[in-house]
Amino acid sequence: MSIDFSAFIAGQPVTGNGPAQPVINPATEETLAAIPEAGVDLVDRAAQAARIAFEDGRWHGKSVEERQAMLRRIADVIDAASDELSAIETANTGIPLSQAKARHIARAGHNFRFFADYIGQAAGRIYDQAPDHMTLVRRQPVGVAGLIAPWNAPVALGAMKIAGAIAFGNSCIIKPSEQAPLGVHKLVELIHRAGLPEGVVNLVSGRGAVTGDALVRHPEVDLVSFTGGTTTGRAIMSAAGQMLKPSTMELGGKSANIIFDSADFDQAVDGALLGIFTNNGQQCLAGSRILVQRSIADRFITAFLERVARLRIGSPLDAGTELGPVASSAHRDRILSYADTARREGMQILAGGRAHSGFDKGFYLEPTVALTDDPGATVCREEIFGPFATILLFDTPDDAFRIANATRFGLVSYVWTQDIYLALRAQEELQSGVVWINTPMMRELRAPFGGWKESGVGAEGGLDCEAFYTRQKTITLARHPLALRRMGTA
Ligand code: NDP
Repeated sequence: MSIDFSAFIAGQPVTGNGPAQPVINPATEETLAAIPEAGVDLVDRAAQAARIAFEDGRWHGKSVEERQAMLRRIADVIDAASDELSAIETANTGIPLSQAKARHIARAGHNFRFFADYIGQAAGRIYDQAPDHMTLVRRQPVGVAGLIAPWNAPVALGAMKIAGAIAFGNSCIIKPSEQAPLGVHKLVELIHRAGLPEGVVNLVSGRGAVTGDALVRHPEVDLVSFTGGTTTGRAIMSAAGQMLKPSTMELGGKSANIIFDSADFDQAVDGALLGIFTNNGQQCLAGSRILVQRSIADRFITAFLERVARLRIGSPLDAGTELGPVASSAHRDRILSYADTARREGMQILAGGRAHSGFDKGFYLEPTVALTDDPGATVCREEIFGPFATILLFDTPDDAFRIANATRFGLVSYVWTQDIYLALRAQEELQSGVVWINTPMMRELRAPFGGWKESGVGAEGGLDCEAFYTRQKTITLARHPLALRRMGTA
């Protein structure tokens, strides 16, 4: 089956008649597909299909064991198609194939297995303190979930949303980014190959302002889960809020990576490189502000720059590639404009800051490192979302926490120290939803992943997804025949 359909509705690929959206390979600039946009009509068909599939109970009416078995089957099918899915994801995003396979596609399968395990253990509550009554609190699926995923990790993040939504019995409609939809198209096809009932997972592809907006506002869509930029999140949350739809927002970041002089130095250098250059620098959780204690600054900067100079930049298909192209020409230009801004604001560019001259085609950048004393500089405030690190120096832990928290974002923080009391203090002081101490990017699916401040509202993770994708119902029973007050007997 070709994957350039516009929508996948009730188990069938559908071609729309909206304007064609070109899908470009960022490494070769070759056009991979031109997908006619799914317009309002297809969003409506997808929403109706999801509603029917929900109402007739073809999925949430199954036993937990049957749902677990299906989720595990989906994971197996994803794993079996790992080579194909990784190749599609790499062609469409420029993410090095080694990272696409080991991180993104492996994670996609893992998401389904995680939720299969989770639902087998989920439990309700009973309040039986009242002598005459017993009260139960249970959860039921909400209905139809609208899922909107970004282009930087389409399959991994899309799979998290689909798995979370359907594990608890909902139907869903996913909208990938129009820039990088192909991996999610393939994922939805694989989910059906595993045998999921038709209409439980549907897909619509197109621009955010058209297809995404229609999805968020559709009256049959009961809740919205969004991962993307803060500005878009604000618009989507407002639209959903108008209709009183619950929504979760996983948004941008400008995370601090704090390196104290008590750190294991080599690990901190490794962690700082991974934190900013993994995924071609396009990660919400990137450690893009590297805060270094002044006493080790010279040594750290020298070591960091040496390693940056040796990063293997190249085709994402080459096994050794560590840094591939960024996602689009527009995104490349946006990142470069931040290098210009940094120069204009008098910052020192220690490395990079230009398009990479070694490639005839592709949106390659030199990995960029800038140094400043001003935490208020533009590149310290705004999310750049590329291979662009900013180094800031600090003297005391108080300085470090103040600089780290001086941002409108609050997604994650990284801390490197071998001083246990300093580590404990850091996790207390840092204003972010996640704090990683002496480890980069450890995603524990049982725990919430969500941002503070403008990095998000709500979180994804076991309990948090259960809370979001289900609604509570309180049932109170009389424990024995009650002597009710008798009205109308006077
Ligand atoms: P965008 O906010 O531009 O887009 C995200 C998704 O929303 C895309 O599918 C987009 O469609 C869609 N969209 C855009 N406008 C609307 C609208 N009005 N209504 C409905 N849907 C809409 O983000 P990017 O794709 O550029 O992704 C990068 C951002 O995502 C970064 O800021 C990053 O930090 C954040 N992110 C956050 C994560 C987290 O967990 N907190 C994880 C990963 C990324 P289209 O692209 O087709 O226009």
